[in-house]
Amino acid sequence: MRLLFIGPPGAGKGTQAKSVAERLGIAHISTGDMFRSLDPDTELGRKVNRIMQAGDYVPDEVVVEMLEGRLSQPDAARGFILDGFPRTLGQAEALDRLLGEGGLDRVVLLEVPEDELVRRMLARGRLDDTEAAIRNRLATYRRETEPLIDFYRKRSIVIEVDGLGEIEEVTGRVLEAIGVTERG
Ligand code: AMP
Repeated sequence: MRLLFIGPPGAGKGTQAKSVAERLGIAHISTGDMFRSLDPDTELGRKVNRIMQAGDYVPDEVVVEMLEGRLSQPDAARGFILDGFPRTLGQAEALDRLLGEGGLDRVVLLEVPEDELVRRMLARGRLDDTEAAIRNRLATYRRETEPLIDFYRKRSIVIEVDGLGEIEEVTGRVLEAIGVTERG
């Protein structure tokens, strides 16, 4: 199964993508995790850190090259959940070139109201979770990433999942939405 998890920052994408990928035995591919694990003493590491802390997006060429390398690793052949990629139309088009247009089975859209997003991000206290960065991340998401939902809706592969509630409860909703029964 090839899935994409999409949603605003703070919606719980990372947590849900990790847990669903484990449950399905497929790769969890998070560009945010990949960027956070870059060596901060390299030029690329420093550049990416600055961008992340401001709440901006890393340039498409950088993200696409990294993602392409990751998708070519053997574990991705069994299926994967993309978490946080693509985030721009340019990245979505690049993904189409890599996988072909029918390359994604489902796009899971995690929905959470904005005031709850801000509350969650302030509570998790990540280095890039300052209030100014949070506001900028939300605005960047609305401007750059939200249009992707329509892009994939045209292919009828988007499923909406309510992201409010306990983590396990949301995981159950996601599994149900993608057609995986709790027992099977
Ligand atoms: P995340 O862990 O997915 O919230 O990503 C954290 C940060 O990494 C984002 O706020 C961006 O600065 C950067 N990032 C992660 N994935 C992408 C992407 N696909 N395109 C651009 N920037 C990204």
